[in-house]
Amino acid sequence: MGNAAKVKNQGTVLSVASECVPLVKTGGLADVVGALPDGLALTGWHLKTLLPAYPGLAERIKKPKVVWSSKNLFGGCAQVISGKTANSDGALDMLLLQAPHLYDRGGSIYLNTKGNDWPDNAQRFAALSWAAAEISRKGLSDGWRPNILHAHDWQAGLAPAYLAYGGAKDVASLITIHNIAFQGLAPATLLKTLKLPRKHFVQDGFEYWGKISSLKAGLMTADAITTVSPTYAQELLEPEFGMGLEGVIRLKRDRLSGILNGVDLKTWNPRTDAHIAHAYGPRDLAAKSKNTRALEKEFGLIKGQGPLFAVISRLTHQKGLDLVLDTLPALLARGGRLIVLGSGDAGMEKAFAKAAKDHPGLVAVTIGYDEAQSHRIYAGADVMMVPSRFEPCGLTQLYALRYGTLPLVSRTGGLADTVIDANNAAVQTAVATGVQVAPNRSDSLEQGIRRMCDLFAKQELWVKLQKRAMAQPLGWEQSAQAYSELYQSLKK
Ligand code: ADP
Repeated sequence: MGNAAKVKNQGTVLSVASECVPLVKTGGLADVVGALPDGLALTGWHLKTLLPAYPGLAERIKKPKVVWSSKNLFGGCAQVISGKTANSDGALDMLLLQAPHLYDRGGSIYLNTKGNDWPDNAQRFAALSWAAAEISRKGLSDGWRPNILHAHDWQAGLAPAYLAYGGAKDVASLITIHNIAFQGLAPATLLKTLKLPRKHFVQDGFEYWGKISSLKAGLMTADAITTVSPTYAQELLEPEFGMGLEGVIRLKRDRLSGILNGVDLKTWNPRTDAHIAHAYGPRDLAAKSKNTRALEKEFGLIKGQGPLFAVISRLTHQKGLDLVLDTLPALLARGGRLIVLGSGDAGMEKAFAKAAKDHPGLVAVTIGYDEAQSHRIYAGADVMMVPSRFEPCGLTQLYALRYGTLPLVSRTGGLADTVIDANNAAVQTAVATGVQVAPNRSDSLEQGIRRMCDLFAKQELWVKLQKRAMAQPLGWEQSAQAYSELYQSLKK
């Protein structure tokens, strides 16, 4: 980072997560963990990111050096290699935890080949957390040691706990909740295996209805808690969103803040995106239409009167995509067409595949995960649908804004914080960037679809909205500043 060299050094951070772009991604967590180091470098913080060495990752680390080792990390030998990996900004400082007995296997990072959670996921991510706490406490063999341990989600939730239980007076800890729905529950019989002190297996500790909760452990012990949007931070205080942890969140509310995720502006830029056929920007939106035609061709869709709607998502209850199926007749009746790229619940995969079969030329579905295709859809679609029941931040609507693809979102979490509804006042004052609807209601989504179609029919206005969407500042500057100030306030 050229600019970072001129910035005053503020300190060091060990960022710990189960996924990180560009090495491994299943969702937004990876994008954020991968983008944080560059964002924070501009504020003077140096981050190293600790990640499990899943198959094939070590080969992507340049000039790897062994900087930490253990003869027995939860049942086998382990070591950490340090080195750089290429990212959109040049390079990312990585620490990979090599523990073949835990990470060297087929399937996906969380699931076996049958699609079930690995039975030893508790051990796999406790090991990651244990290594993080040890590194924070004693440093790497090359002398590097963090001022701040920054844990992400339940997979790193035990890291602040191990740090607190083992004592480390000069390292502060922070946990970020990217999604409270995933809490890392394990049976109490694993207490000893996970090296957790029995005395903290209580309601005031990491016990959750008779089980071990890794996320709760992190929330109870970290010096600060963040989540990825201000609205989600507020929502987490309520039972509807806190998913059983609202009491813990309320208890710790003075440590909680919401910091919106940013976007890696280099990766997500329709002007330079290597995945799309026709580069464009806000001043030549005609080239966006060429991407639309290319997308229609790729998916075998006919040209329609209405907008081309798209979904790029995990197909789960959280994402509210059953509501898209409910409202499909209304969408088609208004001349809309629909592209879906996603995977997840078997029932929902089937239902979308059936919708495509029932409406050839109008609905097209890719079941699977395809990064390159996702870029082509962001560029070619007119409307991105994100009707989530809850959404901690959401990145799909942010990428859509960047590509002039207007988001149709539910009014919750980060969606409410990042999309400005095209009501009359917002249109007249030229601030609108999309459409918001009430969450979890088909009638409201249907109305949103109608409003989108009406806006689309007024092409001049539509282009204004697109330009406004593309001008919305989405980079890391503001969020990095907020993290920087928080790190500074925690530094011991
Ligand atoms: P979550 O992390 O809850 O899944 P986010 O909106 O925060 O949701 O992030 C989703 C990320 O995953 C985005 O980068 C989106 O483009 C990407 N994504 C989701 N599903 C797919 C898919 N099937 N193929 C390619 N990218 C996908």
